[in-house]
Amino acid sequence: MTPILELRNIRGGYGTIDVLHGVDLVVEAGQVHALLGPNGAGKTTTLAVCSGQIVPSGGQLIVSGRDVNGATSDALARSGVCLIPEGRGIFPNLTVTENLRMFTHAGVSLDDVLSKAFSQFPRLKERRKQVAGTMSGGEQQMLAMARALAVDPALLLLDELSMGLAPIIVEELYERVAELAAQGVSILVVEQFAQAVLGVSTVASIMLHGRITRTGSPADIAEELTEAYLGGATAHP
Ligand code: ATP
Repeated sequence: MTPILELRNIRGGYGTIDVLHGVDLVVEAGQVHALLGPNGAGKTTTLAVCSGQIVPSGGQLIVSGRDVNGATSDALARSGVCLIPEGRGIFPNLTVTENLRMFTHAGVSLDDVLSKAFSQFPRLKERRKQVAGTMSGGEQQMLAMARALAVDPALLLLDELSMGLAPIIVEELYERVAELAAQGVSILVVEQFAQAVLGVSTVASIMLHGRITRTGSPADIAEELTEAYLGGATAHP
């Protein structure tokens, strides 16, 4: 089967600063692929390349078998690539419903978006009139995911889902991620702390200094991490 996403020898960064030094990564359809690594390894930059925010200076970006090097974020979004950025990218001054309404432009009705969001995240239904910025971090992350799902993505890119959240909330969110994968959404998820994401991943990679140094089963990668870069990297803070 054609992989949903393929990075071949991707190089790139910010202006003259090179961050990615030849990244090779494959996300097969229906997989949850965890991209792990310490601060500054280039994980967020990799997602920026995958979502079209950064045009790579070398290598090939391939989505569903098509070479999409140089494609804009909009074009990649239309190809089904959806990024939930670090910090979640929701509108804090708008209510839950208003945030979801922002995603009805693609010809999908508000009723459809709301019913899908509320069935996947019942907590959001209770909070639908609440201003998003006043919700808990976990609820805001649910809203970010619900918004992303409104456009029926083929590939969801998640950046540090766990950021600032209690472990129990992170676990709950990753259960949702597993459900989404079971529904056929392919997922590439970046995490600095491995434990929660490895539990729901089908494959995992370690990134160090702008390169993928290892790809393997979640069990193998968990073992490797205990010996590797942070020693305690499998433990959630
Ligand atoms: P973290 O978990 O800390 O976000 P990361 O693996 O996601 O780490 P990146 O955010 O991709 O790492 O950053 C990789 C390198 O690129 C870092 O050295 C960072 O300082 C640099 N960098 C990130 N954003 C920019 C930017 N806008 N301009 C210049 N350099 C940047």
